[in-house]
Amino acid sequence: MTEFDYDLFTIGAGSGGVRASRVAAAAGAKVAIAEEYRVGGTCVIRGCVPKKLFVYASHFAEEFEDAAAYGWSVERPTFSWKTLIANKDKEIDRLNQIYIRNLESSGVEIFQSRAVLKDSHTVYLQALNKTVTAKTILIATGAAPWKDEATPGMEYAISSNEAFHLEQIPERILVVGGGYIAVEFAGIFNGLGVETTLSYRKGEILRGFDDDLRAGLHLEMEKKGVTILTHSLIEKIEKKEKSGTEYFTVTFADGNVLETDLVMVATGRRPYSQGLGLEEIGVALDEIGAVVVDDYSRTNVPHIYAVGDVTNRANLTPVAIREGAAFAETVFKNNPTAVNHAGIPTAVFSQPELGTVGLTEADARLAGHDVEIFKTTFTPMKHTLTGASEKALMKLVVDKKTNIVLGVHLMGPSSGEMIQVLGIAVLMGATKAQFDATIAVHPTAAEELVTMR
Ligand code: NDP
Repeated sequence: MTEFDYDLFTIGAGSGGVRASRVAAAAGAKVAIAEEYRVGGTCVIRGCVPKKLFVYASHFAEEFEDAAAYGWSVERPTFSWKTLIANKDKEIDRLNQIYIRNLESSGVEIFQSRAVLKDSHTVYLQALNKTVTAKTILIATGAAPWKDEATPGMEYAISSNEAFHLEQIPERILVVGGGYIAVEFAGIFNGLGVETTLSYRKGEILRGFDDDLRAGLHLEMEKKGVTILTHSLIEKIEKKEKSGTEYFTVTFADGNVLETDLVMVATGRRPYSQGLGLEEIGVALDEIGAVVVDDYSRTNVPHIYAVGDVTNRANLTPVAIREGAAFAETVFKNNPTAVNHAGIPTAVFSQPELGTVGLTEADARLAGHDVEIFKTTFTPMKHTLTGASEKALMKLVVDKKTNIVLGVHLMGPSSGEMIQVLGIAVLMGATKAQFDATIAVHPTAAEELVTMR
């Protein structure tokens, strides 16, 4: 009989926490998990999944237009935000239930409560006024949207959390930020017919991505109707009212003033580590509040581990899932497993979509590689009939000496799907010669990848 109530207590039932708990339970551990909001976490409840449903919704406007060139006549289509939200909510409820069922069928006990650490083996469940003990504790609380509250009027701005539950879709929106969430939501709102402006503080959106993708996406977003303001800093947001209707004026540092119906801020997320009792029991946090962990997700306090966005390593769902599984392998299956955070393929569900894996051209040069660049820009076949001016872009960054493909960067339809598969080739260290030796699949966009000379 163990001296603790549980072998593992996980705080946070998102992607990382759920996976860790299920793997640990399958290995025979007695596991409990606490969640203060909804089981499933950011990705399922108010992130990747509903976002992608919104992206699908927003694509239809163009698809109705494109259909005409293929002989279809579509009566003037209309859009109902309420229907989209209701259907999205239904799907999220379904997934939430599946997550709960999966935990329960794995034997994991779920506590619907905020959990706070009392000491390195004791957790207090606030909603239940109950204290439990565990041999091992896993922090998997994720991250939360961050905004600069020092800017006057920032309290009027919503984050992506609220964007999933708007009562009605605005006529005009200002999206602030130039990262994943800002470009994805700018595309969603623009596609749904909202007059969309994106404000980014520096010279080009999507810092960290390959420069050709950044410039390419910027151009395509503008062609689709998004106004992109760069070197744009917000000084204040003021709430106004006209004939009973609320709107906002946003004053920028250069003196320009923009009138809009909604401001959505996507200026990054911060580890959700406050108020959990971590500092009190001596768990080391970094300057933005991320739990500091080693390669095995161990904190500095014995028996306390952390995975996912709360550790601010690579803030992506599949990475949190890997970290959760690796933690459970290490601790409950006696198989020390570290996650390799290099070469992670990723997609941005912007319009057009981006896919990227490996080194950007700039990073490859910075790392001392003598690089050869293969690049092509073309009109996706679908648009040969529609006449749309949208371009696709594909780029390979190749090491001249070894011929190894160091990075692949894509913009265009299905880039997310392609980059998943290309990630395998890049992880395996494929050479450009091996790409070339692969016979093309015709007619596809992906065939460009093996025919670039
Ligand atoms: P990102 O870190 O991607 O981008 C934050 C943006 O906000 C950057 O453009 C940044 O500018 C800007 N910014 C930061 N601080 C300020 C400030 N004080 N004033 C003005 N602008 C500021 O964060 P997101 O919120 O977009 O996304 C959070 C995380 O979620 C991402 O890191 C990503 O890992 C994940 N995610 C992944 C998705 C996917 O896989 N498709 C989709 C959505 C999110 P600068 O570049 O100058 O620093």
